Amino acid sequence: MAWCYRCGTCDTTWGWMTKEDANGVRARHREQRHDGGAPGQEEFTSDAQSATDNPIALLITGALFTFGALAWIWQQITGT
Ligand SMILES: [Zn+2]
Repeated sequence: MAWCYRCGTCDTTWGWMTKEDANGVRARHREQRHDGGAPGQEEFTSDAQSATDNPIALLITGALFTFGALAWIWQQITGT
């Protein structure tokens, strides 16, 4: 998962990086440009928008759905 830091007050955006690096960039920027304070319009965002970013979660969801569908089909065939 990548993180992005943006300071809206300075209208400056840094690229995607690890959370540790983004934290470092934010701390450094606050120190250099805002005397260590937090700017009012800063954004700290991750690129995790949906489950598709997590293949394992997607796999588990798909497996459960497939199992449910197979169980339903089996019930239709056996008539139970
Ligand atoms: Zn700033």
